[in-house]
Amino acid sequence: MEYIETLIVGGGQAGLAISEHLGLAGRSHLILERDRIVERWRTARWDSLVANGPAWHDRFPSLLFKDIDPDGFPTKEAVVDYFTAYAKHISAPIRCGVEVLTVTKNPGRTGFSIETSEGSIEATNVVAATGPFQTPVIPAVVPNTASLTQIHSNAYRNPEQLPEGAVLVVGAGSSGSQIADELLRSGKSVYLSVGAHDRPPRSYRGRDFVWWLGVLGKWDAAALAPGTEHVTIAVSGAHGGRTVDFREFASRGMTLVGLTESFDDGVVRFAPDLQKNVSAGDANYLSVLEEADLYIARNGLDLPEEPAAKIIAQDPECMRDPILALDLAKAGISSIVWATGYESDYGWLDVDTFDTAGKPVHERGISNEPGIYFLGLPWQSRRGSSFIWGVWHDAEYVASHICKQRGYWDYHHNAPGTIHN
Ligand SMILES: Cc1cc2nc3c(=O)[nH]c(=O)nc-3n(C[C@H](O)[C@H](O)[C@H](O)COP(=O)(O)OP(=O)(O)OC[C@H]3O[C@@H](n4cnc5c(N)ncnc54)[C@H](O)[C@@H]3O)c2cc1C
Repeated sequence: MEYIETLIVGGGQAGLAISEHLGLAGRSHLILERDRIVERWRTARWDSLVANGPAWHDRFPSLLFKDIDPDGFPTKEAVVDYFTAYAKHISAPIRCGVEVLTVTKNPGRTGFSIETSEGSIEATNVVAATGPFQTPVIPAVVPNTASLTQIHSNAYRNPEQLPEGAVLVVGAGSSGSQIADELLRSGKSVYLSVGAHDRPPRSYRGRDFVWWLGVLGKWDAAALAPGTEHVTIAVSGAHGGRTVDFREFASRGMTLVGLTESFDDGVVRFAPDLQKNVSAGDANYLSVLEEADLYIARNGLDLPEEPAAKIIAQDPECMRDPILALDLAKAGISSIVWATGYESDYGWLDVDTFDTAGKPVHERGISNEPGIYFLGLPWQSRRGSSFIWGVWHDAEYVASHICKQRGYWDYHHNAPGTIHN
């Protein structure tokens, strides 16, 4: 039976990040990836997607993006090339095309038995790095009918993929707002269902929002308390990077509606919360500008004033008199794109560290089951945890825990200083 000290499941950015840290610590490990390195950047993104953060920021510390303006937004292909090069850069021990089918505790002895699509492995530790966004979720609102195409944002590729006619995009996070914008630019009539969101300025006073969220400590904001609702961030690197502004979308002809609630007899009903949701997004936007101004003053930074950024346009008609019920056929809507997020599936991980909803129980990635770790979860330790730069820091913490535990196992009676790594 093949033995490996730490088995990493998933060869996305999270798997590579912890591989780097374990490699630097000299700990043996192996990544098993069922498809290819960063598969989700290859096949679970739309054609025109560029990174939401600029190349100088959305990367790992020890490698720069090649041939890209550091302030530019890498295409998804460039992100794939980057991480493929990264795997080489750190000599990551990775086997692609191998799926982990089950992980079970060894009875009466330490470690885990792992069944894979290519045989069995034993490991002392298993790191589940299978992604923050695994299984697309489409709420059971609108039944499937032949006359309506319904897809998840995960399956959206480009406007040509959708049938003729208007489209309803549900969800106004980064995915929903970018897809709705692209569909509108392609000439389609677009309805966008807007829920709660944050929408930081793309840039302010000469600095990108990733810089502001960094210096203002917002990427490092502590993990949410259990039960606290995650609020999505609506940002975009498309078209050189522009602030997501729903009023501006409406001025170009998009119809904004509130949260999609129900469907009956061909009619979709929306909550009367559009005004509230957009206004809360504006308040979030303005609060970042205000904090940025204070930060600039406090530190005496010489950054150009930008008063125009504080002007919020008037409410468009669709906000003043919001549509609460929409007959899809009458509105000519032939498709719905659900940008409604994901859930996780740890069916392969047979250990006792999940809550009743199937979510991992953990402390900064360290689970209740000694030897089982998670990485890349949304809000694993902080807001940045599921993002490229954030997962690298979480990986460092998880790897150091693995090393510490190894130190304890290396203890011998009378042996000097064995627990340091
Ligand atoms: C549309 C979109 C755009 C994004 N843009 C950005 C951005 O610009 N900047 C940013 O910082 N973040 C961005 N993110 C967030 C985040 O960076 C990505 O979701 C990223 O893919 C997460 O990386 P990961 O390694 O944690 O998980 P994943 O990329 O999901 O990788 C997990 C891997 O595990 C593999 N796997 C799963 N199960 C098994 C198994 N049983 N056995 C073997 N392998 C398995 C999968 O094939 C996959 O390759 C974006 C997310 C989305 C959805």
